[in-house]
Amino acid sequence: MKLTKLNNLTFGKSYDMHVHSGHWWCAASSDVPNAVRTPDGGYAVFKDLSCDVFELANGALSTQDNAVEKAIVSNLDCMVKTTPGTDKNTPFLKNETDGNLELLQKSTNKNEFLYATGQPGTGSAEALEKVINKAPEKFVGIKLHPKQLDLPADSPLYEPYMQLASKNKLPVLFHSQVAADWNTKDAQGNFIPTLIEDMSKLDASDPSKIYTLAKKYPDVPVIMGHTGAGAGALGHKKALDVILESIKNGDARLYCDISWIDFQNDLPSDNPESIVNLIKTLKQQNALDRVLFGSDVPVGMFGEKQASGFSSLSPSKIYDDMQNKIKTAIRNDSELSKDTDNIIDMIFYKNADELFFKKGWAQELTDNCINSTAKNIEKSGISKKGIVVFAGAAAILGTAAFLISKHKKNKAYINPPENKPVAGVQKLKTFAETGSNTVYHFER
Ligand SMILES: [Zn+2]
Repeated sequence: MKLTKLNNLTFGKSYDMHVHSGHWWCAASSDVPNAVRTPDGGYAVFKDLSCDVFELANGALSTQDNAVEKAIVSNLDCMVKTTPGTDKNTPFLKNETDGNLELLQKSTNKNEFLYATGQPGTGSAEALEKVINKAPEKFVGIKLHPKQLDLPADSPLYEPYMQLASKNKLPVLFHSQVAADWNTKDAQGNFIPTLIEDMSKLDASDPSKIYTLAKKYPDVPVIMGHTGAGAGALGHKKALDVILESIKNGDARLYCDISWIDFQNDLPSDNPESIVNLIKTLKQQNALDRVLFGSDVPVGMFGEKQASGFSSLSPSKIYDDMQNKIKTAIRNDSELSKDTDNIIDMIFYKNADELFFKKGWAQELTDNCINSTAKNIEKSGISKKGIVVFAGAAAILGTAAFLISKHKKNKAYINPPENKPVAGVQKLKTFAETGSNTVYHFER
């Protein structure tokens, strides 16, 4: 009887879409062996934080509902410099080709998927494309870290990478962070942040800069990792406001992840109020699909602190605890409690499944392209029969071009930011030239 009951149970599951492997400069005290001075006067040690993410995430499960089934990893070696800090003249530990291919080689778990990490400014989108083409089924997104690149997210140097994402229908995960002053104290004597508003002093990863870039590529899903880290609730609110603006204007496809949002003393907060606020606000806008579960494992409390000798706490327990605290807060909220199971399912699993794997959004873009082409032909006065034939031909042509591009013979992408030379399918482009973001352009 008990077995039957168990068989009837449906367990939840998690997809962690923000995970790393590789090396990082971990904050340390001066007496930690090999600690070096950092530009801000502290100390750091260089450590390989690589771990088996599934072992870590599932090592201390309090409930099967918290089991991580898929994870999407990027290589910190393509983001970390050979000395602490983000100085432009200091090289990255690994270049785009070596770092991403090494990650691919090491990744043997079929449930582990990868971001290809780009290095705008020093690398090239062509180099990254070659890496992605080696294993297109494994690379399900692109990762860009403006802060580590020391390159504002609205720089034109990101555009070839966004074109690559558009062409391959890949979401792009950005590190997002705000600049803040931490010089003010509250009544209890704790330092509290003040957002820096001066446009010239914004963080390179500022949500507004990411939005500026994302608006040029409205067909590319852009994820703001950490939902604006760097100033607690103030930074998260700034990122949320940017997402709300993009939804109101319908001019970018912005997402966010909930890594590093509600923490106390570098541990998961008992009261994850910024996460609950984020969920409630986006749910009211019918945009709950924009929120994704990510952890940033093995950074911070999931490995960085242990590597520096600051903590002996088990990363597996912390990870399980974090999921429980967020889920409990959702269940306890009077507004969310009516739809708890669905909300948790969306944030921890379904949203990532749709964005990275099922990709209905990519199909929608193709469908819109066909509809928009047909509409434009209709306007031009061609008969209905002609429209059907033309739309059919456009569909076949579009699909064929996409498939061919996957085999590296042709290039096809959506909505290039500038007028690229167009050849081969000039006629289709003439009919479809509407300025709409859902129109296909072709290029040889
Ligand atoms: Zn990260």
